[in-house]
Amino acid sequence: MKRRIPKTCERCQQTFICGLFGCWCGDMPVTDQQYGEIVERYHECLCPACLSDLSGHPIPANVLKLSSPLIDQ
Ligand SMILES: [Zn+2]
Ligand SMILES: [Zn+2]
Repeated sequence: MKRRIPKTCERCQQTFICGLFGCWCGDMPVTDQQYGEIVERYHECLCPACLSDLSGHPIPANVLKLSSPLIDQ
């Protein structure tokens, strides 16, 4: 079963898909320290654009695909 919940990013108000336990956010190149700061400031996953912004790395292609609410697959 696929569990993909549309969420609104707390930082930029963009809609994105969080995959919960199989979430793409685990594939983002965010360090543990950066992740700790994000968790302290925000309650939910952030969108890929914000995570990419905070980590200083581009969004991996597979993450872009998994997190887009426009692609239904
Ligand atoms: Zn965002
Ligand atoms: Zn997530």
